[in-house]
Amino acid sequence: MKQLNFVIENATGLHARPAKVFVKTAKQFKADIRISHGSKKVNAKSLIAVLGLGVKHGGAVQVDLDGEDEELAAEALQTAVSAGLGEDDAAHKPVQKPAPQPIVANGKVKTAVPKLPKDGLAGIGAAPGVAIGPVFQLRQTALKLTNEFAGVDAEQAKLDEALAAGKAALHALQQQMQAHAPDEAAIFEVHQELLTDDDLLEAVQQKIQTRQNAGQAWRATIEERAAIMAALDDPLLAARAADIRDVGNRILKLLAGDGAANDVAWPDHPVVVIAHDLTPSDTATLDPKRVLGFATAVGGPTAHSAIIARALSLPAVVSVGDGLLKIGDGTAVILNGSSGIIQVNPDAAAQEKAKNELAAAKKQQQAAREQANEPAITLDNHRMEIAANIGGAADAVKANASGAEGVGLLRTEFLFLDRATPPTEDEQFEVYRQIAEAMEGKPVIIRTLDIGGDKPLPYVQVPPEENPFLGERGIRLCLNRPELLREQLRAILRAASYGSLRIMFPMVADMSEWRAAKAMVDEIRAELNAPELPVGIMIEIPAAAVMADVFAKEVDFFSIGTNDLTQYTLAMDRMHPTLAGKSDGLHPSVLRLIDATVKGAHAAGKWVGICGELGADPQATPILLGLGVDELSVSVPSIATVKAKIRTLTRTEAQKLAAQALACATAQEVRKLVGS
Ligand code: PEP
Ligand code: MG
Repeated sequence: MKQLNFVIENATGLHARPAKVFVKTAKQFKADIRISHGSKKVNAKSLIAVLGLGVKHGGAVQVDLDGEDEELAAEALQTAVSAGLGEDDAAHKPVQKPAPQPIVANGKVKTAVPKLPKDGLAGIGAAPGVAIGPVFQLRQTALKLTNEFAGVDAEQAKLDEALAAGKAALHALQQQMQAHAPDEAAIFEVHQELLTDDDLLEAVQQKIQTRQNAGQAWRATIEERAAIMAALDDPLLAARAADIRDVGNRILKLLAGDGAANDVAWPDHPVVVIAHDLTPSDTATLDPKRVLGFATAVGGPTAHSAIIARALSLPAVVSVGDGLLKIGDGTAVILNGSSGIIQVNPDAAAQEKAKNELAAAKKQQQAAREQANEPAITLDNHRMEIAANIGGAADAVKANASGAEGVGLLRTEFLFLDRATPPTEDEQFEVYRQIAEAMEGKPVIIRTLDIGGDKPLPYVQVPPEENPFLGERGIRLCLNRPELLREQLRAILRAASYGSLRIMFPMVADMSEWRAAKAMVDEIRAELNAPELPVGIMIEIPAAAVMADVFAKEVDFFSIGTNDLTQYTLAMDRMHPTLAGKSDGLHPSVLRLIDATVKGAHAAGKWVGICGELGADPQATPILLGLGVDELSVSVPSIATVKAKIRTLTRTEAQKLAAQALACATAQEVRKLVGS
């Protein structure tokens, strides 16, 4: 008898992929292996049972092993967990943020751009692009199962045959997706694993023993398991219920004699697909020659189907509401995957207009790229600085070549991810030096390590937290581990003479944190006899925005992290599968905090940048300009378009618009005010 205790460090806990690796490892051994979390104890060789534990990031689990190869099994599991359970390349990276969602909607016509015709519908834009064409509704056909029972052995044989065919189809799907979206392809590997789940198969067998036929037994078992998963108090894990149903349906179709999983009678012309929802395998099997784009009544922008749509470059709108399904087959629509707007029955002129707009947008992008190296100056001669958000030295080279006037945010956590130990001072120095040199003397803001919350590190143990986003993250974590921060500051200060470096602290809530961190900079600078350099803070906690006038007396600059500032102001988790789309940085509450920050900074002669996603949102540009923000730091591909947008604006008009936006009641009102 052997026992192991782990803390699960994977960013989203024991979710699909890490759970699959854990279970696969356990299955290689004969020993009886049980895993427990809280009051639940389950078979560690059953993927569904392990998922059902609902272990979140930082969750503690106990593993009990009993059998002749228990030692070997314990060692293998220990190694698998230490190696990140198959997520060494992804788990410890921050989970990808959903693209900024300009429109919050659920079935109602919303104030948006383009202006909605009477028959418009609005959802959440999930994959950019425009699709123009007739609608085709993908309907879930109810499968007819017979009551016939051919005998226990014959039913078991039917099930085995369907499982083998299902696995082969999933394997093919996984291979097909691999080239477009390797991360998403992994979901089909999880689906294959679900089909070998001991607990699940045992439960089906038991039902067959009680004279249910293979189809009935399979359907009942899948429903039981999906219901348990759906009831979990964790949206990410509860979403796995959809995967269980998806894979369950695939086998059910085979058992019902439907043959191929895709038995839809497609029209012979390209269509815009509408559906209540699309499973990952529905989306992955959409044929780009037949499908121009799709819209679903439910679903969120971070669901697997939305991510697959982006990978396949299929324009998509989700969460439109049930009104979507009232559109009859063959009805013409214009679907805009960026704004989330669907125009129903547009006349020929509107269709022509949409086509022309699409072509014009392409042309505009091209023109913006050609002027990327020119400064961003408004029509009334006000210059705004446009810098880049980068994650490492390679990005710096691209940023410099793409017209960036500096680096507004270097997310240094990328140097700390994907490794078992922190980078040494020398390794860090080398990277900071390379970035300073690549930017050829332009300012480079190096943000000190921002981990915790959504960004755990394997070698920095943070005790399990109920609310990691409200826990030990950013500067709080670094001040509690001064050696980590000290090494990083030494590396930055040593690299300072190779360019124009600045230091920025993340997640500052309180003056005492700023003062402690700044004191450390001063101490190390004196030790190294390094040049003086500007030191600032991120404004991403409402407390810091409200106190900006006080901070401004001591800091050299502010950069507003609108991703976190929005999350904390609206109390909406920035990665929440359904709320993330509603968490809009143009909410007047967030704008008022930006306004307070700019006023506080300017009164003390300090400057303010924006480094959150809002900086690249075209509807936000005039408002941020009008509020007096001095710099926008955006992802490298957005530099040219943000600059081009500023060249179309006047500062005086933008100031009027900003004043009106501050007086709005909702984010939708602000977006309506701005227009395109
Ligand atoms: C932000 O919060 O807006 C920000 C830029 O920081 P990060 O996205 O890295 O948390
Ligand atoms: Mg942040």
